[in-house]
Amino acid sequence: MIYIKTREEIELMRESALMVSRTLGIIAKEVKPGVTPKFLDKIAEEFIRDNGGVPAFKGYRGFPATLCISINEAVVHGIPTDKALSEGDIISVDCGVKKNGFYGDHAYSFAVGVVKPELQKLLEVTKESLYKGIEQCIAGNRIGDISFAVQNYAEKHGYGVVRELVGHGLGKSLHEDPEVPNYGKRGDGPKIKDGMVFAIEPMINLGKKNVKQLNDGWTIVTADGLPSAHFEHDVAIVDGKPDILSTFAYVEEALKLKV
Ligand code: MG
Ligand code: MG
Repeated sequence: MIYIKTREEIELMRESALMVSRTLGIIAKEVKPGVTPKFLDKIAEEFIRDNGGVPAFKGYRGFPATLCISINEAVVHGIPTDKALSEGDIISVDCGVKKNGFYGDHAYSFAVGVVKPELQKLLEVTKESLYKGIEQCIAGNRIGDISFAVQNYAEKHGYGVVRELVGHGLGKSLHEDPEVPNYGKRGDGPKIKDGMVFAIEPMINLGKKNVKQLNDGWTIVTADGLPSAHFEHDVAIVDGKPDILSTFAYVEEALKLKV
């Protein structure tokens, strides 16, 4: 069942989404060679708790951390470790917050130092594929229109689109109906209506689409070992159009200052 949110609920969700956005902005300043994922996780948790939020992933089905940090061939659900980041890595940082009873859930993929041009391009195309999906968040369209837009854009660049993990509805639960796959056909799936909120999250592989899970029970990696990128926004349908509740502005400001 797809829950329709009121305007008031959407504003509460914007608060949760923006707390994630600000957290990612803080992380953006710290992503560099030599820094450990565990350190990033610690500052994220402190920031969220200091601001009256609850880290949504910590304890979720036993996940041990505030952030999912997925490095290089890791697609999503990476557990933060003590192994320092290296120049040339790419990392997906996914963060969830619960505040006022509603969830925010969004993600950004970062370059660690200077990365190979092919990885920079993977990051750019994956981010752009997210916006191609968001453009389709129009009342009267169908979920498949989002899915098709993401897949079509990513595959045009020769990338693999992950099938096993998908975007989702978001609200009082971290994962609500409907599923929002990153692949599909135009005109398929549930109709998009005002008051729906989706977490749209392309997971795009430099190589083939296939993935597998590591023995830690969480980390999803590409089957061919090639790198993968992941971006996620929370999007409400308001007055028939997409209203992006999260923002990359804090991240992008921090990245500009670093250069
Ligand atoms: Mg997420
Ligand atoms: Mg999500």
